[in-house]
Amino acid sequence: MNKVILVKNGELALKGLNRSTFEDILVKNIKRRLKSFGMFEYTKAQSTIIIKPTGESTDFEGACEAVSKVFGIAAFSVAATCEKDFEEIKKTTLDFLSDDLKAVKTFKVCAKRSDKKFPLKSPEICREVGGHILKNLPFLKVDVHNPDLTVTVEVRDKNVFIHGNQLKGAGGMPVGTSGRAALLISGGIDSPVAGYMMAKRGLVLDAIHFAAPPYTSKRAEMKVRSLASIVSKYSGRINFMIVPFTEIQECIKDNCPEELFTVIMRRMMMRVAVRLAEKQGCKALITGESLGQVASQTLDAIACTQAAATIPVFRPLIGMDKEEIITVARKIDTFETSLLPYEDCCTVFTPRHPRTRPTVALIEEAEGLYDFEPLIEKAVSETSFEWVD
Ligand code: ATP
Ligand code: MG
Repeated sequence: MNKVILVKNGELALKGLNRSTFEDILVKNIKRRLKSFGMFEYTKAQSTIIIKPTGESTDFEGACEAVSKVFGIAAFSVAATCEKDFEEIKKTTLDFLSDDLKAVKTFKVCAKRSDKKFPLKSPEICREVGGHILKNLPFLKVDVHNPDLTVTVEVRDKNVFIHGNQLKGAGGMPVGTSGRAALLISGGIDSPVAGYMMAKRGLVLDAIHFAAPPYTSKRAEMKVRSLASIVSKYSGRINFMIVPFTEIQECIKDNCPEELFTVIMRRMMMRVAVRLAEKQGCKALITGESLGQVASQTLDAIACTQAAATIPVFRPLIGMDKEEIITVARKIDTFETSLLPYEDCCTVFTPRHPRTRPTVALIEEAEGLYDFEPLIEKAVSETSFEWVD
């Protein structure tokens, strides 16, 4: 039996003006994501993208799984195709959907006839296909209002598509329709979730990780790289940067008051990240901060961190509880990896009593005791780059 994937666009349908650009980006993203699953042909028709396997050795299941992760897709279905012959339609419907039909109690048939030359009208298709199903699976009942399974028969120009209930897509907007931003990624639970959420709003992601060797290990770096790789299953490939941060951290420790250490360190991260972001054409930063979660995420501390950034900082988790964040982390499959117990540069020099209500004036005074500028430039110039996907 010949099968295809029918993709329904999500918010695209609302974007009247840029619709075709958006659709082109979506198709490009799907193509890139399906490359490793074989050869496919792509056709656009009436807010649907039809993906048809062409080669012999396509991994159709794998392709469906990959499509379910592409942002900009509200729903999709796996459909069987057949000739525009009525006996053929009845037979294919039963062959293709009998397992699904046997698993439910009620169904209805919905027909869409965009080929107006097809001899049967939609209500007749419904009646005939429905009758055929009932004759072969007599334990089923028709429920037109709230069926367990909706059997859809779409008679289009060249072919007929037959499918069951639609599957939920990843939603959001196609990656690349909102520009580009740099995710500050640690090995924790939060930042990978933050990246996922902003990619869902159509942003291409770069990732910046601050490492403090020898205090932090190569294995800790590997863990962050794995997290970026899991996020890339949704966002597409990620330009992954590692910033050598040890010297800056040691200088803060030796020259600034201990109680301000964390906030000053976070401000240095911002200053380095803004420069890297600008070099890469990223117009915003993304962090996994959540209000009040730790001392460095009180409103006052965030205000101090923010003051060191000259481009917008997106904090998609700001109003979320840890439980809610963990639910998303499990869904996108980063949770287990985040739990691996490696050190992060943030935990290397933690002050005993961090100040929870710092002010920008106080911090700027403390930072003024030392000229960090050359160290920031050095960290930027020594940052490494690689593609992760
Ligand atoms: P996460 O779970 O994302 O590590 P967290 O709750 O541990 O977050 P912090 O350690 O205070 O919180 O970090 C807040 C945010 O700062 C992180 O979400 C991340 O965006 C950024 N960040 C922290 N450490 C690093 C790092 N080593 N490299 C890059 N970004 C970092
Ligand atoms: Mg952390």
